[in-house]
Amino acid sequence: MSHQFPRVEIHVVNHCNLNCRACAHFANLSKEYYIEIEEFEKDISTLMQKVNYRLLNILGGEPLLHPNIDILCDTARKICQDKIITLNTNGLLLPKMKNEFWQSLKKNNIIIRLSIYPYNIKLIPELKNLFFENGIKLNIWDGRKFYLRKAKCYQDDVENIWQNCDAKICHQIYKGKLYTCPTSAYGFLYNKYFNKDFYFDDGIDIYSHTSNEIYDFLFKASKNCATCLNKGRLINWQLSKLKVDEWDV
Ligand code: SF4
Ligand code: SF4
Repeated sequence: MSHQFPRVEIHVVNHCNLNCRACAHFANLSKEYYIEIEEFEKDISTLMQKVNYRLLNILGGEPLLHPNIDILCDTARKICQDKIITLNTNGLLLPKMKNEFWQSLKKNNIIIRLSIYPYNIKLIPELKNLFFENGIKLNIWDGRKFYLRKAKCYQDDVENIWQNCDAKICHQIYKGKLYTCPTSAYGFLYNKYFNKDFYFDDGIDIYSHTSNEIYDFLFKASKNCATCLNKGRLINWQLSKLKVDEWDV
């Protein structure tokens, strides 16, 4: 287990309180889903025993929608004692969060990664004050441009697409399976919402595979790479109309 991967991400909810066009996690197409604390604990602890990660990122959807987000943060730190832990949020719910949440972030040394969109940009000064008052570290991610990468049909050169993809190290752990990227992990939400079978469920079961088998899996292209275009297209952030072609390059 020598190679260290930069990060793994876990959805604590799949759904969101924002509706961004071309959400890379397909959160705006999801029904409500909340992870159980026991499942979160079991998946993270099994994964960390088998794969060496530098950072755990807790996200969704919008993770602050989870009613037990403070307990999930405590659990994450209990398991990942020597890792960086971050929590990605669009920040809309931060002003309503209770003391337990802020205390959990502080005592567990969890960094907030705040995504900025035109929708929430006016809140930033208020949010910065909240972080300062609660002594929490803040990273800002600029989400005012979105990246489209979905091909309209399957591509041939899967290996080349994978080699050039910067999302292939954006690993996701979801329901006991590890995926190389959000497209592979949550493409089922797209399939389900639009009644398609475009994306494959291409993850590896972390319970029935050894560490070596998981490493082999993570260094190979996914079948889903045939659904992505390398160069993609950047668009300005906008609200989604939930149209099937909104993800297309
Ligand atoms: S805020 Fe993030 S998770 Fe929610 S819809 Fe927008 S991009 Fe997706
Ligand atoms: S499916 Fe392949 S090319 Fe597409 S984002 Fe995932 S790793 Fe990258």
